[in-house]
Amino acid sequence: MIRLLSVGSGSSGNCFYLEINGKKLLIDLGLPAKTIRNALKTVGCEFGDIDAVLITHTHSDHIRGLAVSRKHLSCPIYSSEISCAALFPFGPVPIPIGRPFEVADGINVTAFETSHDCPGSIGFRFDYEGGAFGYATDLGCMTERIRETLKGCECIVLESNHDTDMLRSGPYPYVLKRRILSDSGHLSNESCAEAAAFFARNGTENLFLAHLSRENNDPETALRTAEEALKSLPVSVRVLSPGCDEAVCIE
Ligand SMILES: [Zn+2]
Ligand SMILES: [Zn+2]
Repeated sequence: MIRLLSVGSGSSGNCFYLEINGKKLLIDLGLPAKTIRNALKTVGCEFGDIDAVLITHTHSDHIRGLAVSRKHLSCPIYSSEISCAALFPFGPVPIPIGRPFEVADGINVTAFETSHDCPGSIGFRFDYEGGAFGYATDLGCMTERIRETLKGCECIVLESNHDTDMLRSGPYPYVLKRRILSDSGHLSNESCAEAAAFFARNGTENLFLAHLSRENNDPETALRTAEEALKSLPVSVRVLSPGCDEAVCIE
């Protein structure tokens, strides 16, 4: 069984609590340690109970709480070799790319590279008794490698960053718009929906939209775009509300 809690998602800070068969994990520490601690309390857990932490990359919205949180953690923190070099004073441990690595008893993580303007940026596939779970945010584009790696995951947290029209007509400066739209920026609702349809055809039953832009997206638009792409498929997929701040259970 999986229990998932979005502590924060988006440019204001990213952190997911993930419980798999009783093992407790955190993905990213992009919020103040106090915020993370309070969120953990709602699922009956504290920093000392966490079995492993995984960091996707070193942009501040993913590591803001790392320095303080690590003082309260008694588990290893994993990231890519490049991110570990950048985060050296905070002691993360490198995880291999492209092959399974046991991060907690019975949980194997396969890290994969993401196309994002931060060296060493990665996402994760978790394999465990009873299923697989995927985590992919901060994607400039969906690559064949990511598709193949996450194929068959029963639940995927997938970036649905912006509505392309809202971004183009919005207030961001041209340089920032170009960065977000590029193949090393962020995944649009439209590209997320296209990937969602692929994953749905390949066994994914739960999709959690993540890393939504506050300025260039809204939860209803993101949901509608994903559901539109999924409705003609002969399978049913639960698309979880992007604004969800309560723990979600997936049997
Ligand atoms: Zn980033
Ligand atoms: Zn980010």
